[in-house]
Amino acid sequence: MIPYGKHYIDEDDIAAVVEVLRDGWLTQGPKIAELESAIADYVGVKYAVAVSSGTAALHLAAITAGVGPGTSLVTSPITFIASANAALYAGGRPVFADIDPDTINMSPENLQGVLQKNPDTRAIVPVHFAGLPCDMSEIKSIADSSGAVVIEDAAHALGARYPDGQRVGCCSHSLMTIFSFHPVKVIAAGEGGMITTNDKAIYQRLLRLRSHGINKLDDPFQLPEQAETNGVRNPWYYEMQELGFNYRITDIQCSLALSQFNKLEKFIERRRNLAMRYAKGFADIKNIRPAQNRGQDNSGHHLYTIRINFEAAGVSRSELMNELKTRKIGSQVHYIPVTTQPHYQRLGFRTEDFPNAQKYYEEALSIPLFYELTEKQQDYVISQLGELLA
Ligand SMILES: *Cc1c(COP(=O)(O)O)cnc(C)c1O
Repeated sequence: MIPYGKHYIDEDDIAAVVEVLRDGWLTQGPKIAELESAIADYVGVKYAVAVSSGTAALHLAAITAGVGPGTSLVTSPITFIASANAALYAGGRPVFADIDPDTINMSPENLQGVLQKNPDTRAIVPVHFAGLPCDMSEIKSIADSSGAVVIEDAAHALGARYPDGQRVGCCSHSLMTIFSFHPVKVIAAGEGGMITTNDKAIYQRLLRLRSHGINKLDDPFQLPEQAETNGVRNPWYYEMQELGFNYRITDIQCSLALSQFNKLEKFIERRRNLAMRYAKGFADIKNIRPAQNRGQDNSGHHLYTIRINFEAAGVSRSELMNELKTRKIGSQVHYIPVTTQPHYQRLGFRTEDFPNAQKYYEEALSIPLFYELTEKQQDYVISQLGELLA
């Protein structure tokens, strides 16, 4: 079976995990700061906070951005549900801005309209779909003129670059950026996530919220009289200064992620070459087109998604996916629009209100893309799709 996505683990990764098990800390040890500074240096940002998942990163980012009751958070309907759930976790209201059909990213034009109708918007969460960076200069200037902040959901986009060459995560167009190290993403920690920012106050609050709301670094005590005896600091003393969470990541996970990080450039280059080969392979096949065909030099290539004219091909997506499966080819749909999920339907959302997302959803299919996919396997995927759809 050729899956649609797959992580890649080598002996170095195994050795790195074994080493931390033999000699290291299991959690709250040095591997966490090591991963944070490796990623911060790589993307070009001042601060990075590693957490237990990309979802936890989104939750903490929403809180520190000021999302809460009486505010809205705008994201794309074509994303993993976690991007929108962050609004609900923080007590805010999720709102959606339809995608641009050529990039599958949030359309700045639609965002503008949505902000006019939702003046309580506190945060905008653009998602770099499949690793292709959103138009961040546009989104940032729209956010600035409406008084909202930007949190980039870069779960797909570690290693991607903006058109100006800076790396996603540098936060030159946002207050915060989040990443995920789930195994299907470009590097794996098992579970894991990260928030990057250039804002020191946000950084310090993220550190606290990650660990129960307990004071960190040089946080001043809120009740200094409890902290001292005769002017000397009580050695046991710490303060829970606000309600936080246990969103910590372990040293075991960070050790794996650090070892994976050494292979990041290699991973992306391979994925990029495969993406280019797919685009060439589908050029002459009727009823198939790449969902994204711009900016491919800058993408993180998390997914390879095609759009299929099922009507013209005379086959349903369900029939196609089942037939691919019998031919040992995995495929998946990224994503069911968030607005289509029962929980969001009950909140009153209707996917018809997002026609670009709806049309994309009808046509989308993600096909195998991962580091170890061979050209022979890829050619097989292309030829089988050609046979079934042309
Ligand atoms: C994977 C993903 C997340 C959540 O990351 P986890 O680490 O799985 O919690 C958030 N947003 C998007 C777009 C994702 O693909």
